[in-house]
Amino acid sequence: MLKFNYHSHSTFCDGKNTLEEMVTSAIDKGMKYFGFSAHSPVPFENDFGLQQEEISNYLNETKRLKAKYEDKIKLFTSMEFDYIPTMSEDIRERAIKYQLDYIISSVHLVYSPKGLWFIDGSKQESYDNGLKNCFDGDIKKAVGAFYSQTIEMIQGAKPDIVGHFDKVKMHNKDRFFKEDEPWYRDLVMQTIETMKENDSICEINTRGLYKGRSNDYFPQTNWIKALAKEKVRVTISTDCHKADEVDKLFIECSEHLKECGHKEIWYFDEIWKSTPL
Ligand SMILES: [Zn+2]
Ligand SMILES: [Zn+2]
Repeated sequence: MLKFNYHSHSTFCDGKNTLEEMVTSAIDKGMKYFGFSAHSPVPFENDFGLQQEEISNYLNETKRLKAKYEDKIKLFTSMEFDYIPTMSEDIRERAIKYQLDYIISSVHLVYSPKGLWFIDGSKQESYDNGLKNCFDGDIKKAVGAFYSQTIEMIQGAKPDIVGHFDKVKMHNKDRFFKEDEPWYRDLVMQTIETMKENDSICEINTRGLYKGRSNDYFPQTNWIKALAKEKVRVTISTDCHKADEVDKLFIECSEHLKECGHKEIWYFDEIWKSTPL
């Protein structure tokens, strides 16, 4: 089976292994295509993103690895862009400037006039505090802001890949809302509709599941089925932060996609192509 992954992190951002260690692991695991997607620099101090002064080192290192391993694996350079209203510089402009091969864009920080709500990371406590401080604990308002920010990102930046689009559920764990509530379903369906209109590729992200932070993929099974019904293109990402995670649950996820009604999956080889499941 053709194996690939376009969503990976390294020591250039919050990953644990170097770019080269990620590549040699991908080769060992028989992957044909692998993409680097460091968290893009953000305009405030942080310890998770690529630092502004490291951009050219990152780009040069990916170039070196592409050449060094070209007879073993096809490598591509990207970034996982954070979309934050009023803060993010133009994503497409930056991707052109850095000569990236494709664009992944995701929402990790939800904008509110009171501050940014961090929905990712390993701590439930920071999710709960952000909900209280940025949205006065109003979950509908907060989740609504997450999805409108996601929709705005898809329409504005037109990323090739939309990252983990329902990650807002991760720390919820059925505490503040249930995913089958109509208001929540409506927000998800609007997002899926927007991906369809913009011909986006939706990633099915295996990380939450293999890290034990979620009991399903991002997005969860009902939405994977909805994506098949709406004929939205999908790819599988492991969002790996360590070398042994490069292909985690790839095979299991492709089986699952088939069971959910998907017939094909998309991969990048200079252009986006599909392969039957
Ligand atoms: Zn992400
Ligand atoms: Zn990521």
